[in-house]
Amino acid sequence: MKSILIIEDERAIAELERDYLESHGFIVHIEGRGDTGLQMALEGKYDLIILDVMLPKVDGYEICRQIRSKYNTPVLMVTSKKEEIDKIRGLGLGADDYITKPFSPSELVARVKAHLARYDRLTADKPILGQLVQIRGLLIDKQARRVTIHDEEAMLTSKEYELLLLLASHPNRVFEKEELFERIWGLESNGDAATVTVHIRRLREKIEHDPSKPQYIETIWGVGYRFKV
Ligand code: CA
Repeated sequence: MKSILIIEDERAIAELERDYLESHGFIVHIEGRGDTGLQMALEGKYDLIILDVMLPKVDGYEICRQIRSKYNTPVLMVTSKKEEIDKIRGLGLGADDYITKPFSPSELVARVKAHLARYDRLTADKPILGQLVQIRGLLIDKQARRVTIHDEEAMLTSKEYELLLLLASHPNRVFEKEELFERIWGLESNGDAATVTVHIRRLREKIEHDPSKPQYIETIWGVGYRFKV
C-alpha cells in the first residue's frame, strides 16, 4: 500500500483529502504545520506528498525545495491563488503538479494515482535513494542495517543483508548470479555463482512467507534474480 503525507493547515481540507485517499486504499498521514511537515517529509518514507503553499512556520515553497534536494518523491502542490501558481513555476521548485482550491476530491485522487504510476515507471530500473527501502511489508533501514517483515525483524547475516539491499534498491532489474557475486563478494572470496544461490535460499527462508513461492526475490531461470515490485 502506498503512503501519502498531507501537509495542510486547514483541518477540514486535510481531512477531506485523507478520507478520499483512504477510501481508495492509501495510507494517509496529516501534518498541520510547515516545520513538522518538513520534518516528516525528510524522513523519506512517503510515496507522495500533498503540499499546501501557505503554511505556518515554513511555507510550501521551502518544503518543496528541501524535499527535492534529497528525494524524487512526487510532490503535488495545493494552491489557492494564481500568484502562487506563477511562483511555483517561476521558482523551478521541482513540484510535479499543482491543484487549485477548491478542487474535487476525485480529481485529487486521479492526479495522485497518475503521479504514483509515473514515478513507478521512472524508478523501475533506477536505484532507490534515501535511508529506507519500503516495499510491501518489507522495510530495509539502511542506517540501522535492519530488515523487518511486517514489523518483525529478520535476522540477516551481513552478506544476506547486502544481497537483499542490492536487489531491493533496483526493483525489477534482473541481476545475473555472476554480477551479484562480483558485487557482494568481490575479490575477497574464491567462491562462485553457487554461493549466490545458497545465500538467496537462506535469505528467502528469512524474508519470504513461503520460500517456495517467493513474493520478493524472483528466480529468472538460467539468468539470476530480480526483486519484484
Ligand atoms: Ca494554508
